[in-house]
Amino acid sequence: MSTTLSQVYDRLRRVYGEQRMVAAASAWERLVGAILLQHASWSAVENALTNLRESGIDEPRAMRSLAVDELAELIQPTGHGQTKAKRLLNLLKLLHKQHDDSVESLLSQDRHALREQLMGVNGISAEVADTIVLYAAELPVFVVNLATHRILARHGWIDFEADYETIQDHLQGSLQRDVPLYAQFHEMLTQVGDEFCRKTPKCDGCPLQPLLRNGQPLEPYG
Ligand code: SF4
Repeated sequence: MSTTLSQVYDRLRRVYGEQRMVAAASAWERLVGAILLQHASWSAVENALTNLRESGIDEPRAMRSLAVDELAELIQPTGHGQTKAKRLLNLLKLLHKQHDDSVESLLSQDRHALREQLMGVNGISAEVADTIVLYAAELPVFVVNLATHRILARHGWIDFEADYETIQDHLQGSLQRDVPLYAQFHEMLTQVGDEFCRKTPKCDGCPLQPLLRNGQPLEPYG
């Protein structure tokens, strides 16, 4: 790990401690949970997974039989129910056509093939695809989100204009390839983004404030 990222990780780990991951009972729940995790907490994902389990929606065919509205209601604890329901149903079409409804077949591909296949699904962005690769397939890929982009750019560690792949390459080139490390780091950066590094940064009290150049966050085109 580079010295800078090592400092970031150590500071965040001291403040936030070990991050809890979702208690998923199966590869199926890890796959669904990874989609539901966008803009949601792990506890919200667990509530949605419980709803699905208690409604007997515990495998791809059962979920495919639902209308968008029905599925959206069951997963509503994670927010964005309609969007996520459509995304899930689109993914299930791929699963049916290409993998005969086998989640294990989908997730057992190498990470490049899996990522490419996922990104061909309507509604699945690079961030969502990588969330599935990391949390469901348990393969080492760093999930880049808005918080990651803002934090790294405001500290001058990447350009503000850097695209998704550039940021990901920067992180993966500086970190040991390790699933728990990537998951922990992503969770902690997301937490900093939620609490401090929003559209307008609130640096006072942020655990990364001592790492600012000249004590101030950089600004785009500044
Ligand atoms: S110190 Fe400021 S710029 Fe850095 S992560 Fe915290 S809020 Fe963002």
